[in-house]
This record gives sequence, C-alpha cells and structure tokens, in this order.
Amino acid sequence: MKGLIFSIKRYAIHDGPGIRVTFFMKGCFLDCWWCHNPEGKVPGIRMVERTDRIGRREFMSQEQVGHEYAPEEIIAKAEVDRVFMEHSGGGVTFSGGEPLMQPEFLIETLTLLKSAGFHTTVDTSGYVSREILQSVMGLTDLFLYDIKHTDPEVHKKFTGVSNGLIISNLDMLLAEGKDVMIRIPVIPGVSADAAYMETLRDFIGSRNTGHIKEINLLPYHKTGSSKYRLFEMEDRMASVKQVSNGYLDEYIDILSPLGIHVKKGG
Ligand code: SF4
Repeated sequence: MKGLIFSIKRYAIHDGPGIRVTFFMKGCFLDCWWCHNPEGKVPGIRMVERTDRIGRREFMSQEQVGHEYAPEEIIAKAEVDRVFMEHSGGGVTFSGGEPLMQPEFLIETLTLLKSAGFHTTVDTSGYVSREILQSVMGLTDLFLYDIKHTDPEVHKKFTGVSNGLIISNLDMLLAEGKDVMIRIPVIPGVSADAAYMETLRDFIGSRNTGHIKEINLLPYHKTGSSKYRLFEMEDRMASVKQVSNGYLDEYIDILSPLGIHVKKGG
C-alpha cells in the first residue's frame, strides 16, 4: 500500500515541539474557502505548468504534483533526520490535505514509525469516521486538530460540511486521554472577531481536561493565492486582506483565561 504525498518539509519550530519532518498527503473531505494548500485538496496526481522567471526570461516546465511513497520510504526519510528530531524533542507529522483519507497507508506507516521509536503527530480536520480515527489513535502521540468554526451553519458555508462529526471526534479523543493541539483558522468575515473568540473560549473551556496542550491561532494569509492560479481554481478569498498582529494579540488576551498556551501560527 503506497501513500500519495504532495510535499515533504522539515520544520524547526522555535517554541514548539522541536524539529519535525512533515508529510503532506493528498485529498481532503473539506473545501475550505481559505485553504492555502489547494494542491492538497485535489485527489490524485496532477501535472501543472510552472513558469519561472530569471531576469526578463521566462522558463516553462511541467511539474508533477503528488508522488507515491511506500511506508518504508517514509521511514527511510525520517531516519535521515532522526538525530535532529531526537535532540530537539521533535518527530514526524502527517498533514495535508487530510492524512486520514488514506487510512491503510497511514496505519502501516505509523506502526513502523512507532516501532522505530519516533514521536508521531497527525494533523486532521477531524471529519473522518470514528472507526478510522480510533484505528490511528494508539499509534499517534499528538493530534493537531482544527476547529474551523463552532457554529454548524457557518462551518458548512465555508468548508462544505457541518461540524457535528468533528466536534464529537474531538470529544472522543479528549475522553480517551489523547494529547491535542487545537488549531483555529483566524479568517476575516468568518472567525476573526472578538465575540467569536469569547464563544470559542467557552467551547474549549468546557473541554479543558488537561489534554489540550496548546491553541494555535492561524491567521489567514495570501501565500496560497498564486497556487489557485496555478491549479486554475477559483480563489474565493481574493478580496480578503490578511489579519493584523494587533487583532491576534487581542484574541490571545481573550483566550488567556483558559490557562492554555496560545500561539500565533503553528
Ligand atoms: S481541511 Fe485543510 S486541507 Fe482540507 S480544505 Fe480545509 S484547509 Fe484545506
């Protein structure tokens, strides 16, 4: 069983969990307006035409987006950075897209990584069946878990799906004692709003059993805009501006009574 991956990155997170090698997997159940990895949303392998400029000259090339990897190849890539991960308290992350959209590959790879002694993280939208989530639970040390919006109607409008399954899966993970980092997209016109942050504080506070390790505020940014052009996809956020730092500071203050570390970015 091979997995379809569109990007592999190595992150050094200065105040986070050490050096992490992250595998971005293709396919997603959601269709978020602000997605900055549109190449991850599209399932399957795609060829795109890339234009690079050097000086006044343009160079066109075909680029393949999505490559298949066997679980053993993932382990080999992780082994290259093992020493950095171990010394920094880092590990291996699966993100996307939605990694749980390729459950057989993920289970096999996580099993190998755990038996090789790696710390493992799964970054998920939570919009997956209870059975699939449970099948990776024992193989995953940390979940990065997105709460796009607490209101089901707003969630459906901006992601294409309601949030009932996502919230019940979050509650299941916390009830099982799994460590979770909650990730909050801060989107103008959707969630970048002080009154919403107060609602969110109550939502998280009612679930604060000690297993929510951190809250990441992920401000909307425009880095994905050029990708929408490249993939000939509609950018529904084209006229939306980025969130300023001042607002993020205000939101951190609103969430601070929770007693959970709140970080800009993640
Ligand atoms: S869940 Fe993540 S990858 Fe999927 S569409 Fe939303 S932002 Fe993009």
